[in-house]
Amino acid sequence: MSTQNNTLSSNINLAHQDIISVNQFDTDLLDYLFNRAEEMRHIVETVGGNDWLSHRVLTCLFYEPSTRTSSSFIAAMNRLGGRVIPITQGVQFSSVSKGESLADTIRTLEQYSDVVVLRHDKVGAAQRAADYADIPIINAGDGAGEHPTQALLDLFTIREELGTLDGLRIAMVGDLRYGRTVHSLTKLLLHYDVSLRFVSPELLRLPLTVMNQVIDAGIDVRETHDVADVIDNADVLYMTRIQRERFSDLAQYEEVKGHHELTPELMTQAKEKMTVMHPFPRVGEIHYGIDHDPRAAYFRQIKNGMYIRMALLASVLGK
Ligand code: ASP
Repeated sequence: MSTQNNTLSSNINLAHQDIISVNQFDTDLLDYLFNRAEEMRHIVETVGGNDWLSHRVLTCLFYEPSTRTSSSFIAAMNRLGGRVIPITQGVQFSSVSKGESLADTIRTLEQYSDVVVLRHDKVGAAQRAADYADIPIINAGDGAGEHPTQALLDLFTIREELGTLDGLRIAMVGDLRYGRTVHSLTKLLLHYDVSLRFVSPELLRLPLTVMNQVIDAGIDVRETHDVADVIDNADVLYMTRIQRERFSDLAQYEEVKGHHELTPELMTQAKEKMTVMHPFPRVGEIHYGIDHDPRAAYFRQIKNGMYIRMALLASVLGK
């Protein structure tokens, strides 16, 4: 299936749709999804799950490592009574290691499944898979491109934590160049009345293609190298890891690694009502001493990922 360049809304029907890019979402669809995620939270908290997706099969096909995205999709499918084919422990144990093409792998897996969640190291791979497949493909990260389901859960988390998506100052910190979660979240935030602050080393600034979209949307935006410049005014601090695997020159990685760490001392400069998020894994960007600060939302963010993915799977599978 192929839905590129189509906005999915407005009569709000996600059934049989691919989820490839955040560009497919408008605010009506986002509201719909967030309300469904709330419904999923209620179901999990009251009865644990249901059987809406019984006899439905999801394949998780991951060409890159994952902890949260893969397991939350699996948990989501299980909570809704469905089954999973998990190819998440490394495609080296599948025929990919024998040289099988993405096209053949996808066309094979769709014979067994109702939906495929795909993570791949190449930008555009999810769209290619969607072009080959007749069943819905959900992009779980395509190289340094996009990670739409992460951005959806990030936006949902901001709304849950702060009660609104408007009037906020949001600072994104770290690897803005290669961080696909930053690219997707930034694009989604353009639907709202926000100010954006981008904090990174020079080498890892937000790509121009994304920055131009921010500027075209008329958003109040500034870039800086130091988190101390933005922390006092931020409502959301979105921390990210430097994406070591995307560097062709590891010497460059060595130059920028450890560029930023959110410490308890820095947190004393932050507002009392603000939220710290991170798509995880963290590798030194947030001091463990912050974990019990009520503003640290990253574990709640992880749980929200399951609710959002339950909402997406149910919607895509027509429930
Ligand atoms: N887990 C996120 C991703 O797959 C963030 C990261 O790896 O740094 O993009």
